[in-house]
Parts: sequence; structure tokens; C-alpha cells
Amino acid sequence: MLVSEVKGIGPKKAGLLKQAGIVTLEDMLSHYPYTYEDRSKITPVKDVQEGMNCYIRVSVEKISSYFARGRGKKMLRLLAADDTGTIEILFFRASFYERSFRAEESYCFFGRVSRGKGGLMMVHPEFEKDTGIFTPSILPVYRTVKGISQKDLRKISMSALEQEISAEETLPGRLIEKSRICSREYALKNIHFPEDRMAFRRAKYRLVYEELFFLQTGLFMKGRVSRSGQNGISFSHNRAIRDFAASLPYELTDAQMRVLREIENDMESAAPMQRLVQGDVGSGKTAVAAAALYKAAEDGFQGVMMAPTELLASQHFETFREMFRNTGIRIGFLSSGIRAGERREVLEKLKRGEIDILIGTHAVIQEKVEFRNLALVITDEQHRFGVEQRKRLAAKGKNPDVLVMTATPIPRTLAVVLFGDLDISVIDELPPGRKKIETRAVSPRARKAVYDFADARIDEGRQVYVVAPLIEDSEAVDAASASGIFRSLQKRFPHRRTALVHGGMKQQEKDAVMRAFADGSIDILAATVVIEVGINVPNATTMIIENAERFGLAQLHQLRGRVGRGEDQSYCFLITDSESELGKRRAEIIASSSDGFYIAEKDLEMRGPGEFFGTRQHGLPELTVADLARHMPILNVVREEVKDILQADPMLRSPENRLILRGVENMFGKLSDAGI
Ligand code: ADP
Ligand code: MG
Repeated sequence: MLVSEVKGIGPKKAGLLKQAGIVTLEDMLSHYPYTYEDRSKITPVKDVQEGMNCYIRVSVEKISSYFARGRGKKMLRLLAADDTGTIEILFFRASFYERSFRAEESYCFFGRVSRGKGGLMMVHPEFEKDTGIFTPSILPVYRTVKGISQKDLRKISMSALEQEISAEETLPGRLIEKSRICSREYALKNIHFPEDRMAFRRAKYRLVYEELFFLQTGLFMKGRVSRSGQNGISFSHNRAIRDFAASLPYELTDAQMRVLREIENDMESAAPMQRLVQGDVGSGKTAVAAAALYKAAEDGFQGVMMAPTELLASQHFETFREMFRNTGIRIGFLSSGIRAGERREVLEKLKRGEIDILIGTHAVIQEKVEFRNLALVITDEQHRFGVEQRKRLAAKGKNPDVLVMTATPIPRTLAVVLFGDLDISVIDELPPGRKKIETRAVSPRARKAVYDFADARIDEGRQVYVVAPLIEDSEAVDAASASGIFRSLQKRFPHRRTALVHGGMKQQEKDAVMRAFADGSIDILAATVVIEVGINVPNATTMIIENAERFGLAQLHQLRGRVGRGEDQSYCFLITDSESELGKRRAEIIASSSDGFYIAEKDLEMRGPGEFFGTRQHGLPELTVADLARHMPILNVVREEVKDILQADPMLRSPENRLILRGVENMFGKLSDAGI
């Protein structure tokens, strides 16, 4: 049924609702209230206080109207009273509201109490005629839809509930019984119009449960990479990894060694490895990846490592060439940027097994790329890749071992949800001798000093990043842009070599700029967050972030991680619009901590997981009621159920699981389309 069929909702209102995504009554039911007005209690006028939101039941004693000075509008004034006292009630647009009231009659008003000249009053409260039947109620307050009153929204949700359209159950009865959750019908009624607090809680629990249930089921199903039993590759039990570690110019940290032992165990066992390695920026994930690849190559197998950008891939290539110099291990490089002839040669050699380790960008998952005996697949900076890409790469071998690396610290609890059945290793230690990055949150007034400081570092031969939230200046958004910064840098530092990089540029242009910066032929780089990932330019020691309040915590942490990668003391300046409370708090957290996990937890708390991850990248659908930061305990309950169900019926083929499959598909889209 369409909302336009509800009495009082004409074509104009229906059009406005449509813009907010509400077309049918069913849509309205999933437009959950974000808060409630508690009208379950009538407050006697004598107990009414300034600042309170309350519900009063009064009789109108006097109606008058007057012109409000400065407003040019006629106001309606009611003097109303109950047995305990009198209160004044004002409405704008007297001509419109006059008709609604009659003296001597009784009405209920709900609104905020303020103090006027003549004592306490309510300005423009909601009201209804007092029918004499007291209906205690907790009323929903919906996200505003422009041009539509809360009354209208309530009317629509009320009629939706009366139609009982969405009352259809979405979870199997046995699960409802076992988990002691309420029916969907009860939940919808009570999320919109709770009978009381208890009913509301039960309703909310049920809806959160349901959402997390489908989320977890879908993620488990999507994330499952052929992890079937024991049919993976068992690498030889040997000293390869320890030998490799000993060959490095530095000693691996305890954390790196611990993670490598975990990887070694996985590789030597017959079950295919599915491991996520989390390590803060600069924790030395590359060496860990290299050691694993070394082990694979020593056993006569091929390995591949995929990185999200051309520059990062070629940096890895250079690093690996250095590390593997005296080993006889053959390394290949593949990206869309290399010449056709070179590319053909790499593809040939791969197929014949004449390349042991392939490093590259997304180009490595293209169809033409064939391996002779791919046994180890590594993706670096996992958050830039989707699950599908990881799976496509893995499909190039026969149940290869899979390692995914990420510098985006993900609270462990959440990682379990996101990465389904991946095992998790954490490199929770930085190599020794790293200097703490001096981090300062400063106001825009300090901008000149900050840039002067950066200029002095350039005098010392160092390089500088300046990051802004936008690509181009925008009228709609009051924030700095990389292009704008670039232009002003050119003016301000004519003696310096400046450059610009942002996501709107062609890949090749971006790569060229990044390479020039890495080579040291650029002093100041104005950029957007495109530089956030992975790259390693140890000579860059100053990071300036404009409008830092516009970035999330995890992002700020990543950006800061671009400096402090060499011997020199590094600096990070967060230029923060001091009017943004949230921005200030974020900047303070970043300035006070360099612990990526702590920052990630805070980020999750402050922003909610959707934004935290950029839902799309993780294939994490938008959640409407559940909040992964707050509902972990429910999620833990849900996960156990989901595991049991999927264990018995991995593809949800049995009739009794049909409802679950439908719910998952509603959330994720058709699973067959997603390549499951
Ligand atoms: P990330 O984890 O961010 O990918 P990298 O692997 O790029 O970090 O390592 C950052 C820097 O630290 C590199 O220059 C690398 O050579 C160096 N490094 C890695 N491990 C160690 C170690 N155990 N001791 C000293 N330096 C190390
Ligand atoms: Mg890295």
C-alpha cells in the first residue's frame, strides 16, 4: 500500500516522502523513530518547570491574538489551566490555529516549557483535543522529512501497523523460541508505539538481533573462501622463515616473530591458511609478508602479493628485490602501467613457473594471469580490497594459503564479524628506536606558524605533506581543498617544488606525482586522502592536515603514519576548526595517542562502524538499528546461532532456512550475484 493512500497524505506530501525513501507503508515501518516523546504521564501544571518536555491536560480559558513585533505575524495566545495552575501557550500564525481551539474546552499539549514575560509558557506545542479518555502513550519521533510533520509520520506508521503488512515473520519460529525474542509483529508495533519501556526494550532487542543475525549470516557466507577440510598445501616443516629472518639487516621484533610462527604453523598444516595480519602503520608487515613468501618459494611454490596502488606495489617490488638479492628467488612485477611486451613476458614466465614471487596491483587478478603452482596469496592493505577480489586471486591456485594484511586496526570483536572465519594475528609492537611523532592540534590562527615550521624542515632537506578534505574548493562545503592549497602553496613558496595529487586525477598522473615525491624531487605535496595508504617516504617528516575535524580518527591515524618512517623526528599538525566539538575531541585523541587500536576503538565509539569502515569497501551493509560498537554482546549470541545453522546447511538450501536466506538477500542482494 502506498503512503498516498493514507488519509491526509496528498500527492505533494507523497512526493516529499518519496524523496526520503518512503513510498510504501512498509517503508515507513522500517523508518524507525530515533527517539520518543513520553506522554505516558500527565504533568500537573504546578509541577511544570522551565526546560522540561511535558504533557499537560488543560482547559483553555482565554483566547487572544496579537501582532508580534519584529515578526510581522499574528500570534495566538491561549491562557490555559488545570486544577493546579495556569500556563500560557503561544502559536505562530494565529489565522491558522485560531480555528483549532475553543474557550472552555479541554486539550492536551505536549512541548517544551520556557519562561516568558508572564511566567511559564509553551511555544508551539503539539496538541490534541482531550477526548476524556486518557491514553497513556509513548509517541515516536522520526527523523524529519522536509515538509512533513511528526503527526503525519505517526499517522502513516499507525496505518501501516493497522494494515499488518510487515507483520510477516522474518525469522524461523524455532530460532525465535530458542532465542526468546519477540515476534516481528510485536517488535514493529512497539518500536513505533511502545506500550511501555519494557515493551520497547523487547522490540529493540528483537530488531537488533534480526539485523545482526542477517548481517553475520551474510558475512559468514560471503567471507567463506574454500576452506574445505584438509585439502590445502602442506609446506615442509623447515627453518626457512628463521633463516630468512636472520638474513635481514635488522632483528625482527618479538611481535613480528610471534606472528610469523603463527603463519608458519598454518602453512605447514594441510588446512588452507586464512589469516588476517593486523599491524599498526610502520609495524613492519612487509618483512612478515616477505618471510612467508620466502618459505613458499623455498618449497618450490609460487606466491603473489597484491597492493592497492601502483606506487605501493613498486615499492614492495624494490624492497623484495633487495631482500631476496642473494637467494636465487625470481621476482616479477605486474601492473596496468607496464609495457605490453614486458607484460607478456611476465605472464609467460608465471605460467612456466619461472617467476617465484609476483608483486603487483589489481592487475594480478585479471583473467590472463595464470600461475603454475600458486600456493600463497597475500593482499596488502586489505581495507582497499573487497572480499571478491581476494577470492578471485585465491582462485588462481588450488586452495592456496591466504594472508591478508591491514594497517587499519580493527577492534578484534569487529574483525570477527567482518572477516567471518579468518584467524587473526596482531603485530602490536613497533620496531625499536622509532621516535614518537610530535602531534599538535592547532587552530587556524596558527596556520602561518605551522607553514613556516614546515618551510624550515624543507631547508633541512626534508619533505612535507599537506592534506585537505576536498579536491576542489566548493561553495557548498566550507573546507579546504587540495587544489586550493596547492595554488596557495605555489604563491607562498615560489622557491619550493610543489605538487598536487588527488583522487580525481588519472592513475598514471597520480603515480607519476607519487613517484616524484618518493624520489625527493618534490618538497611539498598537496593531497587528498589518496596518500593515506601504505606508501613509505622516510624523508617526509611533516604532515599538515587542514580541516582535520572533517576526518575520522582512523583516517587521521593513517595519514599521520605517512611520516615518522625514518630516522628523523617527525611532526603532524592538525589544523582544526575550533568550533567543532567533535573535531576537537578527535584531534585531542590523536594528539595524545599513537596506539592504532586504542584510536580505532575510540573511532568506532564516536562514529559508528558504517562510517568507520566506509561500508562499501567492506561489503558491510548499512545498519538501521544495530550498532556494532554497542551491541557486541548481542552479536556474540547471534554468532553462535549462525555458526550452528550454517554448519548444518552452509548454503541455506533447506526449506526451514528459506526465511533466513531471504533476509540475508534483502540485506546483501542476491547471493548468487555476489559470486557466492
Ligand atoms: P607497515 O607495517 O606499515 O607496512 P613496513 O613494512 O613498511 O610497515 O615497515 C616500515 C619500516 O620499518 C620499513 O622501513 C622497514 O624496513 C622497517 N622495519 C620493519 N621491521 C623492522 C624491524 N624489526 N626493525 C627495524 N626496522 C624494521
Ligand atoms: Mg605496508
